Amino acid sequence: MDVQFPIYSPEHEIYDPLFEEKNLRVFIKRDDMIHPFISGNKWRKLKLHIEQAKSQGINQLVTFGGAWSNHILATAAAGAQFQLKTYAFIRGEEVSNPVLSMCKLFGMQLHFVDRESYRNKEALFQQAFPAQEAWFIDEGGRSDLGIEGCVSIYEELKNTYQHIILAAGTGTTAAGLLKAIQSQSNDTQLHVVPVLKLGDSLANDFKTWGLASKNLYLHADYHFGGYAKTKPELLAFIQSFVSKTGIMIEPVYTGKMMYGLYDLIKKDQFKPGSHILAIHTGGLTGFLGMYEQFGALPGI
Ligand SMILES: *Cc1c(COP(=O)(O)O)cnc(C)c1O
Repeated sequence: MDVQFPIYSPEHEIYDPLFEEKNLRVFIKRDDMIHPFISGNKWRKLKLHIEQAKSQGINQLVTFGGAWSNHILATAAAGAQFQLKTYAFIRGEEVSNPVLSMCKLFGMQLHFVDRESYRNKEALFQQAFPAQEAWFIDEGGRSDLGIEGCVSIYEELKNTYQHIILAAGTGTTAAGLLKAIQSQSNDTQLHVVPVLKLGDSLANDFKTWGLASKNLYLHADYHFGGYAKTKPELLAFIQSFVSKTGIMIEPVYTGKMMYGLYDLIKKDQFKPGSHILAIHTGGLTGFLGMYEQFGALPGI
């Protein structure tokens, strides 16, 4: 069976008086539209893993993540779609939430592990699964195969851009884009917005992955306190963006990226006349986690 489904990720312009004022054109690539649950970059990162597992006759995917992980949900849905069993080690005490319920609906088996044991993922994997029977996928899909899969985002582009911007967790998706840009040796600037504190450390990860720092611009000040942390200012921005564009973004990844983009534009970081592309990496379940944190969305 072919590990394929049609990739629907249109690239279209978005409008704002701010862009006009600064003489910029801003576009968005809608990886959020690829699939409702195998959202955005998560499919890109999983595809080659699934192909490899299948070609080696392995019929089970094993992965890792927190209780609200988009990657866990994507793995569950992709496994169901491509007839692979799925198993996930979830960090922390046993909980239930809408994301984990959806994972179970897709047939995924969940196993909660304390934070200490969770650190050694290879050991957890080897203890639970005989070699050759299961396929290991690291947290967040972080892997060389994941990077390779994300090269396709760039290859699909119909237009050229002076600037491309996206959010980063593990940095795998950004690494794929960087690899694609560098292989064409053009001048496109890749702007990466880490959603975790200390996002500057991503620069080292890119090095480890064998990527030069050319074309790379890290903007590490838009994490709003750290992973899945938010502030009223961010939520107010999201509300304004969503209501003006009709494009849903969320507070964990794409909200921070888009906030960063607007801020960089306001600060005249882009030459007038530039074309900028934002990558919508999906992940709208990020909103659900906010409900757990606050009981509602503060201020909305
Ligand atoms: C997982 C995720 C990311 C982070 O991707 P990395 O490859 O880990 O950097 C970005 N955006 C969304 C919506 C995600 O779900």
